[in-house]
Amino acid sequence: MNVGRALADAQPRVFWLDRPERPDPLPPLSGSLEADLLVVGGGYAGLWAALQAKQDDPGRDVVLVEAGTCGWAASGRNGGFCATSLTHGLANGAARFPDEISTLETLGAANLDAMLATISLFDIRCDVERTGEISLATAPHQLADLAADAALARRHGHDVVVLGRDEVRAEVASPTYLGGVWHRDRTVMLDPARLAWGLRAACLSLGVRIFEHTRVTGLASSGAGVVARCFGGGSVRAGGVVLAANAFPPLLRRLRAFVVPVYDYALVTRPLTPAELASVGWRQRQGLADSGNQFHYYRLTADNRILFGGYDAVYHYGNRMAPSLARSAPTFATLARHFFSTFPQLEGVTFTHQWGGVVDTCTRFCAFFGTAFGGRLAYATGFTGLGVGATRFGARVALDLLSGSPTPVTTLDFVRSRPMPFPPEPLRSLVINATRWSMAQADAHEGRRNLWLRTLDRLGLGFDS
Ligand SMILES: Cc1cc2nc3c(=O)[nH]c(=O)nc-3n(C[C@H](O)[C@H](O)[C@H](O)COP(=O)(O)OP(=O)(O)OC[C@H]3O[C@@H](n4cnc5c(N)ncnc54)[C@H](O)[C@@H]3O)c2cc1C
Repeated sequence: MNVGRALADAQPRVFWLDRPERPDPLPPLSGSLEADLLVVGGGYAGLWAALQAKQDDPGRDVVLVEAGTCGWAASGRNGGFCATSLTHGLANGAARFPDEISTLETLGAANLDAMLATISLFDIRCDVERTGEISLATAPHQLADLAADAALARRHGHDVVVLGRDEVRAEVASPTYLGGVWHRDRTVMLDPARLAWGLRAACLSLGVRIFEHTRVTGLASSGAGVVARCFGGGSVRAGGVVLAANAFPPLLRRLRAFVVPVYDYALVTRPLTPAELASVGWRQRQGLADSGNQFHYYRLTADNRILFGGYDAVYHYGNRMAPSLARSAPTFATLARHFFSTFPQLEGVTFTHQWGGVVDTCTRFCAFFGTAFGGRLAYATGFTGLGVGATRFGARVALDLLSGSPTPVTTLDFVRSRPMPFPPEPLRSLVINATRWSMAQADAHEGRRNLWLRTLDRLGLGFDS
């Protein structure tokens, strides 16, 4: 397959955001405002915080400020796999929080139920499909790990089906598949940008005041509250602040050691013809992910395109973020090559969109939480690559922390503990790149983990997207 030809017309734009239904931006903040609650960041975490705050207390005056437009960042450009897991997967959660994993699983399932109820309540048309997700083995050594994951999932009451080589290929026809585990009940697929836009509309309908193109440049104590100064001269003084800024340069210095921005990339094809789709099967439309350390995730869109993402997870020295980094020709070419080895029958299909986005990776791969300014600011960050569902829960935790009274959630070790920090540069880059290189080596050598990875495993550290 000529990868260059397949990518020739791919636009450097996010498929989900590249649609006429994208709402017009709201005016930026000018002047000074007072509010009960200020939310900084209009991705899922911020939108869920504002929405839940209003649902808790309709009389609360809530302001949300967003540096770009709501949902432009990770929340509008992800794969749309919405999982119950709050811990970047059950295995990660069980290893890190063995005493709390059952509670966290229950809270995660309740979180997804509440999320779907809200989507229905506000008539958010984000194409929810309850298909579940298949974890795929594409190398023999991955079969044992998948079987262990399936056994763990069953112990926690998940509905899983182990699929042999022929069974998995009967679901989705790829010559690369050796087996799979269909997690039927813990992941729904949805349209990420439509979810973000729908949450924004829901917030507005409840009276949240949203200012877009309004970047907060600094926070300071102000009497019994906190004042946020914004680029352009505006300011908001609020009794409480939820900081929901993901991997962007943190407004709290203390967070700099804990979160690194990691670029993750995706391609989208043109819509498949009925014959092309039939050649793949995929009648149940599950989300798919293979099981290497460097893994792909892929899915069908509502109009039967294939979104194909993942594999490279790229960190830039000094936590660098820039619009130009959301494009990477070598990564797009790698993804296209892998796409055609996965689906050789789709030779001739072209890609229409290619983009990248930033994941807020921390060393425990799942969100952590905290407060500042004497409890008047709360944050939730570090969702790594599984935040579509978990951000709603993270927002709930931040609101609970702001309330100042312990709740069943804020007393969890999961909420009270923090990940190990990353070392400062230049060590940070060295450590991350050594880890990425070692993970690629493990994938190429039957999963054998070298001394570096085994040491990190013993310390409970790692790097993921
Ligand atoms: C390519 C890609 C694929 C992914 N796929 C999946 C997936 O399939 N399933 C899954 O569960 N997760 C996935 N994720 C992760 C998921 O998208 C994120 O965890 C989630 O969207 C994080 O939401 P958020 O609100 O914390 O962050 P964001 O959506 O990044 O929102 C943060 C917002 O804060 C704003 N902001 C930052 N600083 C300031 C400031 N100083 N002032 C004002 N505003 C500010 C930003 O402009 C931004 O809009 C993926 C991520 C990427 C990038």
